[in-house]
Amino acid sequence: MHVHLRESSKKGKNALTEVNGAETICAIAGQFAADGAGRPVGVGQNGAEEVDMRIDGQCHCGHVTYEAEIDPDIVSICHCKDCQRMTGSAYRVTALARAEDFRLTGGTPTLYVKVGDSGNRSLQYFCPICGSPCYRAGEGEDANEVGIRVGTINQRRDLVPKRQIWCRSALPWAMDITGLPSRDDE
Ligand SMILES: [Zn+2]
Ligand SMILES: [Zn+2]
Repeated sequence: MHVHLRESSKKGKNALTEVNGAETICAIAGQFAADGAGRPVGVGQNGAEEVDMRIDGQCHCGHVTYEAEIDPDIVSICHCKDCQRMTGSAYRVTALARAEDFRLTGGTPTLYVKVGDSGNRSLQYFCPICGSPCYRAGEGEDANEVGIRVGTINQRRDLVPKRQIWCRSALPWAMDITGLPSRDDE
């Protein structure tokens, strides 16, 4: 499956096109460390002002760490079967960054290449120690964006999904859990 949540950015077009492993992405991420910082305001695809939010995050064990600037208005839930399998959960929540606005700051994630029905390759990066899914990148025309798994973002409480996709494969109960008996702890 393919979702374009954001138009291509000029600078990021080739950012991840030649990624063939996690070490490559580390090197590329480092390359962008200098120019990706300090850009609080950009212009969105429809000309509207788009305010980026600086975030950072890590996997469960802390081996993989990263920082990024994201548009907090582009956070989405995916109910597709791939996301259910790869998260081991009901759905996945993802925030989007331009490739040049995403930097690994520690650890080397492991790459799993998911090949979609269309033949497109989606580069799925996870922690080799604790297994947390951390982010995905793309190739070709998708090389300009990185999808960050929201559960790994330190500021995740401030990120509210704005849409959900692949609802036809959503688990029947996943659309409304408000009726479940609730406790503040286990
Ligand atoms: Zn880890
Ligand atoms: Zn999905």
